[in-house]
Amino acid sequence: MRGVVQGVGFRPYVHRLATRCGLAGFVSNEGDTVVVEVEGLEAAVEAFAVALTAEAPPLARIDSVASERLPAVGERDFVVARSRAGRSALVPPDVATCDACLAELFDPSDRRYRYPFLNCTDCGPRFTIVVGTPYDRPLTTMAGFELCADCRREYEDPSDRRFHAEPIACPACGPRLSVPLEEAVRVLLEGGIVAVKGIGGYHLACDATSSPAVERLRERKRREEKPLAVLTAEPELLAAVSDDERALLRSPARPIVLVPRRADAAVVEEVAPGSPWLGVMLPYSPLHHLLCVDTGRPLVLTSGNLTDEPIAFDDEDACARLGRIADLVLSHNRPIHRRCEDSVWRAGFPIRRSRGYVPGAVALPLTAQRPIVAVGAELKSTFCVARGRDAFLSAHLGDLTSEEAYRAFRTDLRLYLEMLGVEPELVACDLHPDYLSTRWAWEQGLPVEEVQHHHAHAAACLAEHGETGPALAIVLDGTGFGTDGTIWGGELLRCDLRSFERVAHLEPVPLPGGDAAVREPWRVAAAYLERAGRPVPWQRWAEVRQTLALNAPLSSGAGRLFDAVSALLRVRERVTYEAQAAIELEHLAGDTEAEPYPCTVTPARDCAPRATLVVRGSDLVAAAHDDLRAGREPSQIAAAFHEGLAAAFAEACARVGGATTAVLSGGCFQNLRLLDATRRRLERHGFRVLSHSLVPPNDAGVSYGQATVAAARLASCA
Ligand code: ZN
Ligand code: ZN
Ligand code: FE
Repeated sequence: MRGVVQGVGFRPYVHRLATRCGLAGFVSNEGDTVVVEVEGLEAAVEAFAVALTAEAPPLARIDSVASERLPAVGERDFVVARSRAGRSALVPPDVATCDACLAELFDPSDRRYRYPFLNCTDCGPRFTIVVGTPYDRPLTTMAGFELCADCRREYEDPSDRRFHAEPIACPACGPRLSVPLEEAVRVLLEGGIVAVKGIGGYHLACDATSSPAVERLRERKRREEKPLAVLTAEPELLAAVSDDERALLRSPARPIVLVPRRADAAVVEEVAPGSPWLGVMLPYSPLHHLLCVDTGRPLVLTSGNLTDEPIAFDDEDACARLGRIADLVLSHNRPIHRRCEDSVWRAGFPIRRSRGYVPGAVALPLTAQRPIVAVGAELKSTFCVARGRDAFLSAHLGDLTSEEAYRAFRTDLRLYLEMLGVEPELVACDLHPDYLSTRWAWEQGLPVEEVQHHHAHAAACLAEHGETGPALAIVLDGTGFGTDGTIWGGELLRCDLRSFERVAHLEPVPLPGGDAAVREPWRVAAAYLERAGRPVPWQRWAEVRQTLALNAPLSSGAGRLFDAVSALLRVRERVTYEAQAAIELEHLAGDTEAEPYPCTVTPARDCAPRATLVVRGSDLVAAAHDDLRAGREPSQIAAAFHEGLAAAFAEACARVGGATTAVLSGGCFQNLRLLDATRRRLERHGFRVLSHSLVPPNDAGVSYGQATVAAARLASCA
């Protein structure tokens, strides 16, 4: 049997089933395969074979089963045999504490009462502690902990829940905290900051009900306004949680879920300044359960790093990097082998796909004929390894602009390739020559497949639906390198997985001062207003305007159009984190009803080889400007802008034709108002609309898209 069949309680399950059927024989892990040999009455063997896949444990995924007949050897018992090495097995994701373990954690008569590292075959760390395969204790970071007599009895008893639970531990023989838990609880209740070693790395925690505590954390972490996530056992007290969101919060992956914040939520404003949304997470390890119960309040829990760096997971590194930020470090002696950040979801799609999901595979719609490494983009970096029909996306690495992140990229990629037993034969990368990922790709001495950024976004969305195109892809995004060397980002592509044609795009505008314009949206607003023939209200424009002649790259990025309108409405003229202005504009629009602003869609004036349409974003800015002058409500202006942009791209789709399926991708489609409006208008034009639900619409999904494009091009060469 192959698939995710190790580390998910599969051998104990086979043991129980064989015993129930009255069969003798053995089960063992051999490389990536689980081998079962049974001996007994014909009918019993048949019943066993049927039940084997039908009743498999919930965390298992069986990809293939092969069987053969052997002569009987007269075995009496059924045993779990020693594992044997072979082709690398699929390592399962980490799993949140199960209900049975949770009951023991808070049962004073249990020998694991309040033990921060209890787990069983149904729960506990996996991906983050597995050093090699087959998945057995000696190849986990638990290897150094000798089992006590009690744990050994459980580990060897087929009727026990901990039969062959590889990370099994108890207070007598297992890992320990570096400081008493009470001390950490005291520091938290006094408003201090505690670095907590979790499953995939270190977090920084503080009291979410204390303004000074949260402010201090922001100051020390250098994270001014970006929302922070909250750990709580009672999310309903903080947010209006739908049934779907509750199911997601309670799922074994336990991601952070963005939910509408309640007005009376007991967390201070500084946790998510100005936002109607709150990132909430349930406790996912025994240690986090204990922290929740003992502090009795919601806690801010954020990655242990400086903003945009990869999460710290190595003990020494954590002490060095977090020592100055935290008042206390709550560590333990179970090593983390691989870093893994928390996952983040919003209404039906992942924003960050990490702990609880990796290294689970995302299917490819076609077979990768050779192993591929796709290196992704630059911000929210991930990489992706494609092997056969499986794509293995990495955990979140942070922004690949720092030396720290680049090192993490190389280390994690090596660990992934080792884990998967893959020797890459092709590297897929972005067109941008200056991305560190692109440079790395060209240094490998392997064939390189370049994939245009927005084509990769579009391909990711098609591929996660198991499709190969053709389709029209609306990719509304920040920035990405175009095939003409300019910055793209508001694109309509007619594409399949192999290739694309740019059939429409937002009108390019100059970004006064280049990167400075990304940090200061008012500059983009000024450029748009000039384009629209409207007065620029900022006095400092007179001076900044001179940069137009020196440093003002043209960009068709949709993110910049959102920035412009946000600045124009005085929502946000300067940003402290990526996409802040656009996010706040979405909040302002909410679900205010409004007619779409008119927005011209015209053929490009230049002599493009094919007729390309241009969506005149400056029309939307002009309308917003005029309405603002006329005293219209900013929330209505924001809503009319969202509707207008959606309507213009839907109209462009209808005009260019050539496909009946429309896919929506790019970072801007994390905006629910834009997503809904675009979907609604496309459906009205008769399109079938696909959006993301497995892979992030933002740049974290680009590596998966690159891998699918490379695989499709390989398939077409063969
Ligand atoms: Zn458990
Ligand atoms: Zn023990
Ligand atoms: Fe992008």
